[in-house]
Amino acid sequence: MKRGLWLILLLGFSALSFAPERAKADLDYLVGIGPRVAGSPAAAQAAEYLAQQARAAGYVTEFQSFSYTRSRDTGSSLSLGESRLEAFALSGSPGGSFEAVLQAVPGIGAAGDYDNLDVQGKIVVVRRGGIPFLEKARQAAARGALAIVVVNNEPGGVRGTYGATGPIPGVTVAGRDGEGLFARSGERVRLVVGSVLEQAQARNVIARRADSQAPGVVVGGHYDSVPGAPGANDNASGTVTALELARTLRSESWARDVWFVWFDGEEDGLWGSRNFVQAYPEWVRGLRAMINLDMVGVRASSALGIGGNPALLELLERSGVQFNDIGNSGGSDHTPFAQAGVPVLFFHWGIDPNYHQPTDTVADPQVMAETAGVVRLVLERILGR
Ligand SMILES: [Zn+2]
Repeated sequence: MKRGLWLILLLGFSALSFAPERAKADLDYLVGIGPRVAGSPAAAQAAEYLAQQARAAGYVTEFQSFSYTRSRDTGSSLSLGESRLEAFALSGSPGGSFEAVLQAVPGIGAAGDYDNLDVQGKIVVVRRGGIPFLEKARQAAARGALAIVVVNNEPGGVRGTYGATGPIPGVTVAGRDGEGLFARSGERVRLVVGSVLEQAQARNVIARRADSQAPGVVVGGHYDSVPGAPGANDNASGTVTALELARTLRSESWARDVWFVWFDGEEDGLWGSRNFVQAYPEWVRGLRAMINLDMVGVRASSALGIGGNPALLELLERSGVQFNDIGNSGGSDHTPFAQAGVPVLFFHWGIDPNYHQPTDTVADPQVMAETAGVVRLVLERILGR
C-alpha cells in the first residue's frame, strides 16, 4: 500500500496526460471502501482520500461541511401467508408495521385506476412508472389507503424516493417478487416499513491552486453512493476523472482558476451542490462554467452524452466532438448551478444495468480518459489557452 502511494505521488508530479493506470488505482481504492453513503465512515474515508490525493498533486484543499435530514431504511418487508418479500422503503416514507387487506390497483395508480375500487384501510399495490412515487401515494392516501406497495417495472429491485415527506408509508418491491401480488387481492398481508429519520453529516471536498482567488470554472462530480452499491460507475468514475484531470492540469498556467469540487449527498437530493451554491454566491456568480461528471465509466449508450448550456454545446460541435446531446436533463449536481445562472455542461454516458445495484463494481479507465479529453478541450476553449 505504502509503496503504491509513493508511486502515485511521483507520477502525480510528472505526467501531464490522463493516466488510465493511475485512474484504475483510484477506482480500486474507492470501490474497495464499499458503499460511500453520505455521512458514513466509508464516505469520510473517500473524502480524506480525495483531499490527500489532490494535495499530493499540488492543490490546496478544504472540506465544506453541512448536514440534512433524511430517512433511512432499516429493513422493510411484505409478508403474505408463508412468503416474505424484501421491500425497500421509499425515501421520505413514514415508518411502521401494518396488517391489512391487500388491494391490487390496475395500472400505475393514477386517479383513473381507482374507479369502482374500495381501498379504505387497505394496503394497495400498483405498478411503477408513468407518475412519480409521491403522486401514486397521494392518489392512494386520498382514498383512505393505509400504505402503498409499488412493484418495479424491471425484474430487480429499486430504491425510490418521495422527494418529500410522503402522505402514507410506501415501499417498492422487485418486479420478479411483486408481479404475483396482483393475483392476491383480498388476502391479509403484513407490511413492515423500517423507515427512520436521521441527520446526515456530509462534506464536499474542494481543491484549488494556492494562487487562485476564485474559481473560473468548477469541475466536479458526486463521490457519495446509494446504500448497498459500491458506486463504481455511479460515481467513482466521475470522481476519479475529475481527480486525474486535476493532476494533469496542475502545471498548466491557463488552468489556474479551474477548481475541483467533489460533492457529497447527491444521492439524497443534490445536497452537496445545493450547499455549495448557497454558501458561495460570489464564487458562483463569477463562474464561466460548471462541468459535472456523473457516470462516465461505462459505455451505456452509443456515444458520450453531454447536455446543458447551448453555447457550450455549440462550441463542442464546432470543435468536432462526437456526442449525444442529452438536453437539459436534471437530476445531478449541475442542476443547482444551472438554476443559479451558471453555464453548465453535464457529462453522462447513460444508465448502465448495474445502476444503484451491488453489482456497480466496474468502470473503464479508457472511457474515463476519453471523457476527460473532451472536458480538457472545453476548458482550453473557455479559458483561452
Ligand atoms: Zn450519480
